[in-house]
Amino acid sequence: MTKISVIGSGTMGRGIAYVAALNGFSVALNDIHSESLKQAENYIKDELVKSEQKGYINKEDIERSMNNLTFSLDMKACVEDSDLVIEAVLEIMDVKIKVFKELDRLCPKNTILATNTSTMSPTEIGAHTSRPDKVIAMHFFNPVHKMKLIEIVKGLDTSEETMEFVKDIGKQMKKETVEVNEFPGFITSRMNCLIGNEAMNMLMEGVASAEDIDKAIKLGLNHPMGPLALADLVGLDTRLRNMEYLHQTLGEKYRPCPLLTKYVKAGKLGVKTGSGFFNYT
Ligand code: NAD
Repeated sequence: MTKISVIGSGTMGRGIAYVAALNGFSVALNDIHSESLKQAENYIKDELVKSEQKGYINKEDIERSMNNLTFSLDMKACVEDSDLVIEAVLEIMDVKIKVFKELDRLCPKNTILATNTSTMSPTEIGAHTSRPDKVIAMHFFNPVHKMKLIEIVKGLDTSEETMEFVKDIGKQMKKETVEVNEFPGFITSRMNCLIGNEAMNMLMEGVASAEDIDKAIKLGLNHPMGPLALADLVGLDTRLRNMEYLHQTLGEKYRPCPLLTKYVKAGKLGVKTGSGFFNYT
């Protein structure tokens, strides 16, 4: 059985672990906070039950998926026999580099190390390991069990074998993949961050209410979700870090809207805190 370890059990890590366990992988989920691991376990159980109630899976699938999962604060125990590690910690380069140096030390030499970064450079992360050919980005989308795509991003030294390996894992997780040659923001985040930032600028300028901006984009441009609701779902802290990275690497066009910064300072981070551009309580 192929073993996948997921580092970071927040919004994305728990979703990736859920989809991997449901599709027959042995999965070890790690975090530095026990509270986050507990919430992740409850989230996965709840989502499995919801899927069973909707008729997508049966009771045996729930039991099998939960048996495929372990939850641990001990990174070494999680990763030491892994075929693939997927990192989903904060979107801060220094934090990611620290995690990858540790993974490089703890994992067998043939383990593939993937980052779920939305914007950042797998080349830079890989350069801090002894195996840059085995470092790649697997950019999943939120919520992972509903979103079909994984954007797979090849760093300068990533090998074709690594690319083929993660494409195959994506297929086994029943996802579609696209291949991207590394550039900040890849395809989706580069586009999506601009749309979201423009919506925030319009809200700040008083062009329309948050409800009407989202309604216009959904009904007028046929987007399934409004850009402000989507930013709330992503997490406004995560979105701000994405914007700051794109601003730093791609220039002025990506300057984060001051309203986004203000919401993050107020602790209004979107769905995960109960309020952002909309209320969720
Ligand atoms: P999050 O804040 O919800 O979760 C991050 C988790 O990482 C937390 O549980 C935290 O305790 C844990 N963590 C921090 N440092 C750690 C460490 N050293 N070791 C182990 N765990 C650690 O963040 P998120 O929204 O899940 O984002 C994670 C990554 O996924 C980011 O790189 C983000 O850009 C990317 N991403 C996010 C979304 C989204 O919609 N939220 C979508 C695609 C990609």
